[in-house]
Amino acid sequence: DERIARIASSIRVIPDFPKPGIMFQDITTLLLDPKAFKDTIDLFVERYRDQNINVIAGIEARGFIFGPPIALAIGAKFVPMRKPKKLPGEVISEEYSLEYGTDKIEMHVGAVRTGERAVIVDDLIATGGTLNAAIRLLERVGVTVVECACVIELAELKGREKLGDKSLFVLVSET
Ligand code: IMP
Repeated sequence: DERIARIASSIRVIPDFPKPGIMFQDITTLLLDPKAFKDTIDLFVERYRDQNINVIAGIEARGFIFGPPIALAIGAKFVPMRKPKKLPGEVISEEYSLEYGTDKIEMHVGAVRTGERAVIVDDLIATGGTLNAAIRLLERVGVTVVECACVIELAELKGREKLGDKSLFVLVSET
């Protein structure tokens, strides 16, 4: 698909952000290219339309950019999965480990129902810890996670392996 090449080249890499040694994949430059942005959304929509997906679960913060246009196009609801203490209502949460310490993601109670079918959307998978926690959170309330979808995969970090038998769909795999 020639759309992938344009998407890949629209992503900027910023060295030493947010810490020395990190090569940060910056999708804000993809958003500046309306064709690359539209192609990104279209590729996900082509994959998930007609699959009876009820829920697009977007991971804070950049899953909030890519998730909603996909949800609107396929007629699914959008559910934000947020960092702790951001959601105002009653929440359920899942912890995951970082290099140093732990973090959490939260979702509103009642946002999803048992038996619904979800795709989890984020900009990037690194170690896979965030997506793994999102899968556990949705599965705890009886939702079927059909797939995780990211724009970028940092393949060397083998985050894919942390998703167990869950399928991961990415547009760009960085090695
Ligand atoms: P993981 O839990 O290690 O897979 O990290 C994935 C999370 O960290 C996602 O929510 C990403 O948005 C964020 N992240 C990690 N590295 C990058 C990067 O290079 N660019 C943008 N986001 C990143």
